[in-house]
Amino acid sequence: MKKIETDVIIIGGGATGSGVLRDCTLRGIKAVLVEKDDIASGTTGRNHGLLHSGARYATKDPVSAKECIAENRILKKIARHCIEDTGGLFVTLPEDDQGYHDMLVRDCLNAGIDCKEISIKDALRKEPNLNPSIRKALKVPDATIDPFRLAASNIMDSVERGAVVFTHTEITQLITNQNSLTGVRCFDRHRDENFEIYGKVTVNASGIWGQKICEPAGIGLKMYPSKGSMLIIDYRINNVVINRCRKPSSGDIFVPGDTVSLIGTTSKKISYDIIDEPVVDDDEIKILLDEGEKLIPNVSKTRVLRAYCGIRPLVALSGNMDGRDISRGIILIDHKESDGIENFITITGGKLMTYRLMAEKATNLVCKKLNIKKKCLTRKTPIPGSEKIFFNKRKLKPFQGFSNSVVGSTIYRHGTRAEQILQSNKKGSGLICECEMVTDREVKYAIDNQLVKDIVDLRRRTRTGMGPCQGGQCAYRSAGLFTEYGETKGEEAVKMLIDFLEERWKGVKPTLWGDSLREAEFTYWIYQGLFGIGNLTKGFGVKGKRE
Ligand SMILES: Cc1cc2nc3c(=O)[nH]c(=O)nc-3n(C[C@H](O)[C@H](O)[C@H](O)COP(=O)(O)OP(=O)(O)OC[C@H]3O[C@@H](n4cnc5c(N)ncnc54)[C@H](O)[C@@H]3O)c2cc1C
Repeated sequence: MKKIETDVIIIGGGATGSGVLRDCTLRGIKAVLVEKDDIASGTTGRNHGLLHSGARYATKDPVSAKECIAENRILKKIARHCIEDTGGLFVTLPEDDQGYHDMLVRDCLNAGIDCKEISIKDALRKEPNLNPSIRKALKVPDATIDPFRLAASNIMDSVERGAVVFTHTEITQLITNQNSLTGVRCFDRHRDENFEIYGKVTVNASGIWGQKICEPAGIGLKMYPSKGSMLIIDYRINNVVINRCRKPSSGDIFVPGDTVSLIGTTSKKISYDIIDEPVVDDDEIKILLDEGEKLIPNVSKTRVLRAYCGIRPLVALSGNMDGRDISRGIILIDHKESDGIENFITITGGKLMTYRLMAEKATNLVCKKLNIKKKCLTRKTPIPGSEKIFFNKRKLKPFQGFSNSVVGSTIYRHGTRAEQILQSNKKGSGLICECEMVTDREVKYAIDNQLVKDIVDLRRRTRTGMGPCQGGQCAYRSAGLFTEYGETKGEEAVKMLIDFLEERWKGVKPTLWGDSLREAEFTYWIYQGLFGIGNLTKGFGVKGKRE
């Protein structure tokens, strides 16, 4: 069996694992990261994408609130191409506790979060779709963050600096020797191959899956699986993040992101056995739409594109709590102290937007264990794409042959790396995804530089298939490009296409009414009617039929 040696092994390629990899690499520590699926395919790719100002936590969890505002300021500098500095509002509806607003102002100021009451007129000018009967509005420095871009850029930087990353590779066993963790056994799904990695320290950044990884080795890590469901609507119904000014509850937040907006979120405890296949329930959709409509009445007239859910990586520190009551604080566990196992660390809890701080804390402990005295550099070192030199109008001139919307979208997604994509020597400049303005050059770049192995991975790097058509037009073109660029044989590309459609179908299925149903029918006729995809080995669910 192949054996690899390194200093640090990182389990999980979500924001936390990607951040630990980058922090280690910047400190000159040799590291290998293993991810069972794709980068950001876990909870990192299944949240609101809110760059919290901390206001949401200010009243209940001031420690988290302070961490949020500090990281909010850092990430706006080092990850600027992943962030849209939209700003945020907390609005009070007539039926809400009118005293919550003043309490929030007080707690925000105590946590160092800039907040300012604005007039209802100003709030409605900013957000014309807001419920006009709001009573108060508070402005906070919330923003939005693209989790896929963030994790992929951390990984890309690390790989460019010498780190090794295995995606679609599962850690199947922790290897222990007496009371020390010495390595991990892995299974690479693409190569159908088992191998082992030996390291001096192993960092478990596997989020909600942490319990599954630790249990077989007799390490006690109890997670609390709290599911949160969200809905995506087909256009940006709001410009800034809109929060309802009350104790966090279902359907109280609207987050704009790229070309769409989303409504979040519910909180439901689920059984740990179903963390790999959680589903959005009908009652969750109803509550999100009913509550969402109170903030933005027009929501009932929009088209819901899809529903999805994520599971919060909360640690069950004590008995019978509600998911919303468990702290979102960062949990760093040295398993030597908790379980007597040397060289094994778990970093979990926290939030997407505190990933850098989580990574800093975990890497400080790694350094202590390896007796390395190197300072953390991630506070000030921008991730690739977010370097200071940004494009101005004059600099866009060289990208002739592309429309402004293509150039703008490429810059939006890749920051300074857009230059490399748009000026590559590749001949074509064909548009692959009209919803998100993705060109074949961007697809090639993602395959070559961003560990893209299939169309689902491609969606996470480029947003291909994330827009209103949900893959109807772009998926078959992408499959064609995988074969054209020599990465994939025809049959594999077809399988890839089917996997992509089934993945998209999961999110579309709970929202099949009105225009979404019409669009799904249209997509069905393209793929089944035109291509006969259901007659191939694996169809849209059952062979030859839709589920
Ligand atoms: C509904 C909801 C909304 C949220 N909204 C926000 C928000 O707006 N802003 C915010 O900051 N935070 C938000 N969060 C929290 C945030 O999403 C998470 O805290 C964060 O993404 C966790 O990242 P992670 O890397 O620790 O875990 P994950 O992203 O889950 O990464 C763990 C990775 O480990 C991999 N893995 C598991 N087992 C193995 C194995 N055996 N071998 C190899 N790899 C393995 C998984 O595939 C996964 O990719 C939200 C969470 C939820 C559920």
